[in-house]
Amino acid sequence: MRTSQYMLSTLKETPAHAEVISHQLMLRAGLVRHVASGLYTWLPTGLKVLRKVEKIVREEMEKAGSIETLMPMVQPADLWEESGRWDDYGPELLRLNDRHQRPFVLGPTHEEVITKLVSNEISSYKQLPLNLFQVQTKFRDEIRPRFGVMRGREFLMKDAYSFHLSDECLKKTYQIMFDAYCRIFERLGLDYRPVIADNGSIGGEGSHEFHVLADSGEDDIAFSDESDYAANIEKAEALAPTSERPAASQELKEVATPNVKSIDEVVNFFNIDAKQTVKTLLVAGADENGEPQGIVAIVVRGDHQLNEIKAENLSQIASPLTFATDEQIADVAGCDAGSIGPVGLTIPVIVDRSAAHLADFICGANKNDTHYNGANWDRDIQNYQVADIRNVVAGDPSPCGKGKIVIKRGIEVGHIFQLGDKYAKAMNCGVLTEAGKNQTLTMGCYGIGVSRIVAAAIEQNHDKYGIKWPKAIAPFHAAIVPMNMAKSARVKETAETLYQTLQQAGIDVLFDDRKERPGVMFADHELIGTPILLIVGERNLDNQEIEVKDRITGEKSLVAIDEVLSLFT
Ligand code: ATP
Ligand code: MG
Ligand code: MG
Ligand code: MG
Repeated sequence: MRTSQYMLSTLKETPAHAEVISHQLMLRAGLVRHVASGLYTWLPTGLKVLRKVEKIVREEMEKAGSIETLMPMVQPADLWEESGRWDDYGPELLRLNDRHQRPFVLGPTHEEVITKLVSNEISSYKQLPLNLFQVQTKFRDEIRPRFGVMRGREFLMKDAYSFHLSDECLKKTYQIMFDAYCRIFERLGLDYRPVIADNGSIGGEGSHEFHVLADSGEDDIAFSDESDYAANIEKAEALAPTSERPAASQELKEVATPNVKSIDEVVNFFNIDAKQTVKTLLVAGADENGEPQGIVAIVVRGDHQLNEIKAENLSQIASPLTFATDEQIADVAGCDAGSIGPVGLTIPVIVDRSAAHLADFICGANKNDTHYNGANWDRDIQNYQVADIRNVVAGDPSPCGKGKIVIKRGIEVGHIFQLGDKYAKAMNCGVLTEAGKNQTLTMGCYGIGVSRIVAAAIEQNHDKYGIKWPKAIAPFHAAIVPMNMAKSARVKETAETLYQTLQQAGIDVLFDDRKERPGVMFADHELIGTPILLIVGERNLDNQEIEVKDRITGEKSLVAIDEVLSLFT
């Protein structure tokens, strides 16, 4: 590629609205451009990186026995009704009608489509197990799209789904996927950790997230300082002993308030700045008569769909939230688990970590338009920090029994999950067994955020001059930077010959043939993060040499022109 025929689109200034370094650098290096909230155009250089990530993911998936397919991004609503998620998914699911007023969704994930496919195509145990993947655009109407492509509304995901007759078989494939994910992140050259994640009803270690470690990450990960135990904070908290929970007071004052139902209404009612991150949500427990029975803390992280949480749905919002079980609520509330039901539960409390003042600590239960507040924990609430409310904090004993908890920030770049028969059952996906009986299948699903990885890689690999790509995903392997080509025929000729040679050898090389000052060219290549600069200058040509600069180490060396190819072996 010649820069004169390319679209470099680098920027000198850091765009003011970009909060994190990866977003700033992706804009400055000409990788993406903002189109609308959470929607981006990938410019040529960015697309090259995206495709390299995709290629590594695809190769490792295929090596691990997964087969590529491609499903539509637009999906009919009836599939979502069949699975039950038409009602459960909430506003992240973008719904639309076609010209005949038939309802559709923009796929945030593809369990429905794939389960339907397998249900139609696969009829015998002999065709199992089966593992299918795709690399497809997803759409999630994120409540707060931010950090550029890190949390977009439209983004590229590799999603795979496996189908099995038995949980044993599922576990085998799950392990194969786990190993494939490790190879993918190793090949990508990222500092990553698999962490145990919660998989709701199935239990065991049936779900892992893969995190790229970075301070800007939105997730907390709990590590043990003495073992290789690592879990996402939700899982670590789910495992923490309930005795660690703050005790709730039973003394509640009754105040009249509107029957607050949605978080938006709560936010409006209590006049909390909705733009600030709502981190913690506390829910009052109540018995079936709506009598308040205690309080339980629900810690919410990331951009969850808070406005969808309604009292009636509390039992259904378990997956995106750290949600206490009935037993845990009952434990805190000191009442029977059986008496904790959807009836009478409410959601009136928000503590906002980022607010200068801690939002008033209010909790209660709805009963005939009545709201209760004034509940106290066993300490003065004004002194509480969110970390105190949390079940697991740094220094706690690790759930693995060895060492103490250390908390670090991570970016979730992958998530694998033993689904069980949730979708297969709802969508009637089964096969005939060897004994001739119909049997519902058990499933696994395996996601990787392909576009998020590009941003995560930059969070981990940059300096003040720009991006320092891991070699495997750098947009170009090398750039040829000729000094004063216009004035030196020798420089021009050498650069041209070098360009041909490298191209023929299959090396992704950018030939900077612009009429720019060397300073401008160097600044651009450091910003873009090309690993190797091949600097062709008049002086070194006397010795048939060029100068080679390594972007990662900053080292410069002289290399004979004939030897340049060996730099790439
Ligand atoms: P998050 O917790 O960050 O919202 P998620 O748990 O909702 O992610 P999954 O449903 O597990 O996401 O999807 C699989 C992968 O897709 C995630 O691990 C992540 O890498 C990627 N991903 C999810 N949401 C987005 C997004 N809005 N923008 C970019 N990538 C995303
Ligand atoms: Mg999400
Ligand atoms: Mg997540
Ligand atoms: Mg996830």
